[in-house]
Amino acid sequence: MSLDLQSLPKVLLHEHLDGGLRPQTVIELARNAGYTGLPTNDPKELAAWFHRGANRGSLPLYLEGFKHTIAVMQTRAALERVAFEFIEDMHQDGVVYAEVRFAPCFHRERGLTDEAIVGGIIDGLRRGEEKYGVRWGVIICAMRDRTDSLEAAELAIDFRTRGVVGFDLAGEEAGYPPKKHVEAFAAIQRANFYSTLHAGEAFGVASIWQALQMCGAHRLGHATQLVDDMTIVDGKIVKLGPLAQYILDLMPFGNARWVRQR
Ligand SMILES: [Zn+2]
Repeated sequence: MSLDLQSLPKVLLHEHLDGGLRPQTVIELARNAGYTGLPTNDPKELAAWFHRGANRGSLPLYLEGFKHTIAVMQTRAALERVAFEFIEDMHQDGVVYAEVRFAPCFHRERGLTDEAIVGGIIDGLRRGEEKYGVRWGVIICAMRDRTDSLEAAELAIDFRTRGVVGFDLAGEEAGYPPKKHVEAFAAIQRANFYSTLHAGEAFGVASIWQALQMCGAHRLGHATQLVDDMTIVDGKIVKLGPLAQYILDLMPFGNARWVRQR
């Protein structure tokens, strides 16, 4: 029996808006914005360039590709278009509910207000939903190498009635532990709001522990280095450390609850 994966209904919970642009869109938006920094203006070559960048095995190198997508996402119209096309792409992949995240601080280079940034993206998502029926939620990201995570958390809370479903901490992990952002996560908790946190991708178990126990994250992004808190023999997990056991016990209940209320 063959299974048509594309047509099966799916839920996507971890997607970065600035990491999924169509190459053709990047080229057109760059032309509109007068941005001349792209490595090529050929859509196929640009797609290949992004894929190469994503496969270099280093988080900082991987993040380099974002400078081009962010450079062309500096007007409300550009953000609205990218968000609409995101929903269109989700529909084509058979996704019925998608959460998409972005960091507003990256879209202020040409003077956009937070209202224009978040509002523009929400308008695009809404227009996509009206056309394709794909439901969505927005996650506002703070960047871990910056000092304005509290502001980003407050922005997420401000927009919770318009489609923002949570708050996240993203970006280069080594050297920027979650514990430097406890104030932001405390604000989220005080507002009875939700958080996810990139942890344990480029840095170890301590980062995951801080995300959960110091920041109260409801979800973890990646957390692949949790493997260091397990005893593995011949490819089989034979014993869990205390953090891995804790996550196994608690995390399943944290997921799938954020679906936007209507
Ligand atoms: Zn991510």
